[in-house]
Amino acid sequence: MEKQDIKSWNQKELEEFLVSLGEKPFRARQIYAWIHGRQVSSFEEMTDISKKLKEKLINTCELTSLKQVQVQTSKQDGTRKYLFALSDGNMVESVLMRYHHGNSVCISSQVGCRMGCRFCASTLDGLVRNLTPAEMLDQIYQIQKEIGERISHVVVMGTGEPLDNYENLLKFIQLVSDENGVHISQRNLTVSTCGIVPKIRRLAEEHLQITLALSLHAASQEKRLELMPVANKYEIGQVIDACRYYFAQTGRRITFEYSLVGGVNDSSQDAAQLAELIQGINCHVNLIPVNPIKECDYVQSTRQVVLDFKKKLEKYGINVTIRREMGRDIDGACGQLRKKAADAFNIL
Ligand code: SAH
Repeated sequence: MEKQDIKSWNQKELEEFLVSLGEKPFRARQIYAWIHGRQVSSFEEMTDISKKLKEKLINTCELTSLKQVQVQTSKQDGTRKYLFALSDGNMVESVLMRYHHGNSVCISSQVGCRMGCRFCASTLDGLVRNLTPAEMLDQIYQIQKEIGERISHVVVMGTGEPLDNYENLLKFIQLVSDENGVHISQRNLTVSTCGIVPKIRRLAEEHLQITLALSLHAASQEKRLELMPVANKYEIGQVIDACRYYFAQTGRRITFEYSLVGGVNDSSQDAAQLAELIQGINCHVNLIPVNPIKECDYVQSTRQVVLDFKKKLEKYGINVTIRREMGRDIDGACGQLRKKAADAFNIL
């Protein structure tokens, strides 16, 4: 019999399961506190649970716990990049970034990705599988445990397209923001998408307090198509409408991500077109100098071009930041560490 994924359950589901085993409902609160409050990695650590119940749990459930395979620390800024092994041997990567306002972790939502963005290393070998809610959570639990400090912010911007793993993502959001768990405020949680329109609309209707980051990367349908195959399915105008809808439903300001690729989408005209496209939306633009990967020949815009692009947007009254390039010395771009390790071990 396949073991139950106990760490992906909320307290109510856990209670139903325990009652089905003939246990008292209050045990759910105790066990939930061990798993999500104290983030233990084994049933043995649950000291106020009887030996008999522990045995039952060991026989019927799996307590997902990722194994750290590798960690690299940036000498420039202290960013730490983790490679974790899942129980089936697949690997995912997560990144810890230290800011003045707290510790932020960037997590993966899938093993691989099927979206095919041209500049992204995570998608080169396609999608292997979705991550479970427990596997998303445990990236945070493991890092928090290792550094012995609280994680205050989470961005779902690692490998994978979170809205292509919608149900598990939603479950993850519920668990990570639960006051009996790690209790990370939804306001400190950002989900980044390449623009799957029906899912953005559905997410809007969940009325969560999370931030939606939309990977735009171009201001016209034509240019977007060159960089992102997903634009074949959802036209740029539809994507922007879905973002307006998200704001209308949640009141949460949208973040537009725009990776600047030298000579492709970084001209002064591109900036003007972008300003026009997002005009009137309560938003913020995050410019990301593209991180070149060896599998394709895109290059970074020069520093001056990035600054000019920013200035131009600001002239239109748009809020802009340039993403700090954290951890450039440690395979900083999405999917690069996992890809390198996988190539080395020849497992893909
Ligand atoms: N699938 C989601 C989240 C993962 S990618 C999405 O598309 O938003 C997180 C962000 O990093 C996206 O904006 C993505 O387009 C960008 N990105 C991926 N590879 C990059 C690279 N090599 N350089 C710069 N940005 C990159």
